[in-house]
Amino acid sequence: MPAELVVLGATGSIGAQTFEVARRLDIPVVAMAAKGGSEELFDLGLTWPDAQLVVAAATDDERVRFTDAFGKRVSFGPESVQEVAATPGAVVINGIVGSVGLAASVAAIEAGNRLGLANKESLVAGGPVLLAARARTGAEIIPVDSEHSAIYQCLKGERASDVARIVLTASGGPFLGRSRRDLENVTPSEALAHPTWEMGKRISIDSATLVNKGLEVIEAHFLFDLPFEQIDVVVHPQSIVHSLVEFVDGSSKAHLGEPDMRVPIQYAVTFPHRSPGGLAPFELGGKTLTFLEPDRATFRALDLAYEVGNMGGSSPAVFNAADEVAVQAFLEGRLSFLGIVDVIERTVSRMPTVDLDSVADVLAVDAEARSVADQLISGAC
Ligand code: MG
Repeated sequence: MPAELVVLGATGSIGAQTFEVARRLDIPVVAMAAKGGSEELFDLGLTWPDAQLVVAAATDDERVRFTDAFGKRVSFGPESVQEVAATPGAVVINGIVGSVGLAASVAAIEAGNRLGLANKESLVAGGPVLLAARARTGAEIIPVDSEHSAIYQCLKGERASDVARIVLTASGGPFLGRSRRDLENVTPSEALAHPTWEMGKRISIDSATLVNKGLEVIEAHFLFDLPFEQIDVVVHPQSIVHSLVEFVDGSSKAHLGEPDMRVPIQYAVTFPHRSPGGLAPFELGGKTLTFLEPDRATFRALDLAYEVGNMGGSSPAVFNAADEVAVQAFLEGRLSFLGIVDVIERTVSRMPTVDLDSVADVLAVDAEARSVADQLISGAC
């Protein structure tokens, strides 16, 4: 069991569930970071009186308020997020949303810390950079994404050369079974209503477009060092089978359980061991599990993700950045639902594929892709 935890993205959905796990396992949280100086972070600072607080992007008022209340316990700015990620010997749970989470992931790995990775953008946008850092320090990356945690667990004790393919399950999101025509006028609130998982806004929209599954395919490629031909996706609306691994002898191992992110969070913390999870016994009796092929014509994001994944280099980072911008525009009513994937596709086609050697390289590509996507959305090009 680790001595202490650092929680990045403390006020998000992963953050909240990480605090529950920490409390149940009685592991101290020594530092936490959030983007803004919200009431929620303020309360967390009171609840965890020994934790260092970081506000990555505080307003002037928030800076004054947090400094008055917490004194030396609070620090500000993205560099401070990287500093706490490098806390010696800590397990770092990175639940930051978006490519802004990459620098903290790299800082954790460079310090040799175990990284519980919920920020999939760290691998999608910065895969080559994060894996190069891991090769230098040998630090562990344990996925905190239900599908990848499932695969990680199924692969334990197996030889990489015995794997035929991995199969990521997708719930299909709230628009499973709909045609492109049905999707023309869907609203943000319809798209936010995910049937099985309770999640943040961006990932909920990404689940509705299947962009999230596309990101997860790329994440799996880096995490498990598998070519894209060996990564498949199957739709499984009940979200009970969290993913599968098929081996060369025709056997498959699947990971099952209730859809509950506290399970993969806890596994990243307790790995290679397990602790009681505090969940009700998992009953299969009376459950029906169904599987179907994804509708790739309606949900074009999936094939597009395979394409950018095979392009390699900076292309997955462009895909991710364009999606972040497009989802925000959709939530603000400036872009239609189907427009999200159109914007991603057009942004990818406008940007060259270059190599990524550093966090700075990734951030430069990210910024340029955002600006191209923005211009496309506002009709400027
Ligand atoms: Mg997932």
